[in-house]
Amino acid sequence: MSNIQQIINEFKKNHPLDDPKIIIKAYEFALDAHKDQKRKSGEDYIYHCLDTANTVTKLKLDKETIAAALLHDVLDDTKITSNKLNKEFGENILQLVKGISKVGKIKYRGKERMVENLRKLFLAMAKDIRVILIKFADRLHNMKTLDALPKEKQKRIALETLEIYAPLAYRLGIGDVKGQLEDLSFAYVHPKEYQEIIKQTKDRYSRRKEYLQKTIPLIKKTLGKKGIRVIEIHARTKRAYSLYKKLLRYDMDWHKIYDLIALRIIVPDIETCYATLGIIHKKWKPLIGRIKDYIAIPKSNGYQSLHTTVFCQEGKIIEFQIRTPEMHQESEYGIAAHWHYSEGKGFKNFIKEKLLKHPVKKEKDIEKELLWVQQLREWQKETFASPQEFLDSLKIDFLKDRIFVFTPKGDIIDLPEGATPIDFAYQIHSDIGDQCAGAKINGKLSSISEPLQNGQMIEIMIQKNKKPNMDWLKFVKTNQAKNRIKTWNRRN
Ligand code: MN
Repeated sequence: MSNIQQIINEFKKNHPLDDPKIIIKAYEFALDAHKDQKRKSGEDYIYHCLDTANTVTKLKLDKETIAAALLHDVLDDTKITSNKLNKEFGENILQLVKGISKVGKIKYRGKERMVENLRKLFLAMAKDIRVILIKFADRLHNMKTLDALPKEKQKRIALETLEIYAPLAYRLGIGDVKGQLEDLSFAYVHPKEYQEIIKQTKDRYSRRKEYLQKTIPLIKKTLGKKGIRVIEIHARTKRAYSLYKKLLRYDMDWHKIYDLIALRIIVPDIETCYATLGIIHKKWKPLIGRIKDYIAIPKSNGYQSLHTTVFCQEGKIIEFQIRTPEMHQESEYGIAAHWHYSEGKGFKNFIKEKLLKHPVKKEKDIEKELLWVQQLREWQKETFASPQEFLDSLKIDFLKDRIFVFTPKGDIIDLPEGATPIDFAYQIHSDIGDQCAGAKINGKLSSISEPLQNGQMIEIMIQKNKKPNMDWLKFVKTNQAKNRIKTWNRRN
């Protein structure tokens, strides 16, 4: 269980020059606000706040984010008002807490075709990346205590975590959080498969660990002789859900899984990464088609490392992952890693260096729906003159000109900012647009020219034989609507 002292200590370690008093104040405030509340698990409510704050502290985030994490449920679950929060903690922390409350209202109900838009809605409503990071931490603790909820709720929340939260954590590059969220959900979404994986891996893991314990010193010695300075070498076991997905791709054939346990070698710089790969290949024969250079060509979420699979000692097949300390930090903390670098180390130079090291992947065949992820990466790489500029940049700008609204059936429609019910109607179907006679927004009769807002539910009323009106051109935003209205009037 997390406690406040532990959080303060960790914070001081990450930010030695910073004063943690706002964190202590937030803790005392939350403790008082939630004082009579218990979680479904029977625990005092404050432990949920502490665990959430502990996770963001471990991600090395700033004190405002940690304070907001402690306070994240006071608006929704206690009598504390926005005004009070603003007076005690200021506008920034208030906005973070409000953001968390807003995105908390977005629910996934199991419609695959709208998952991608739901993720975007999530980002668009959050407005600030830190809101998302606190929400991840909040969800992580909710998943750890999911047993206390009724069965149907467990399944819905676990599915939502698997479909919305974990993929977002992956795209933001936070491998550690993504992995934890996936494994916690896996146990609820596919309980049988989860048990099977755990059972099957138990023996395999212990056998391999024994083998690696013998082999690691030999690898160190081999590299040392060639003058390679190994900063760290450790074995990582594949997480249950990631293993399950891989097994599905390989017809559940365990013999095709070579990275149940992989060896991670961390060396000082990129040149040494390649040199290490060369030495390993010279000593142990690599498997054909298993060498991956994610340094020259990073994964779409920015992941970098060299991967290779070799016939190691006693002919055993072992995967190696070779990377620098920066690449390691990035793969565990992703976007969150940037805060730490932004302080003290000279963020601009750090980012500049990154730009040179990360050639941007420009493949034509990037799936269309993944383009926004590319935008996100690009935006992360921008240069900032000061930490303040960096903080400003956390605004989720690349979605600011899009809005996401629901159909009555729960599908999410992606529209440009300022779009109206008429644009929405044409987006659904051109006939619906043509015959649009009125609209309801969140169940209330509204004007067909009313600009839509994120998260609204729109219902279109149609009238047979109704015709598009040229006046609509004065307010519609989408080309689809404009073209259709013009064409119709030209034709008639
Ligand atoms: Mn919460």
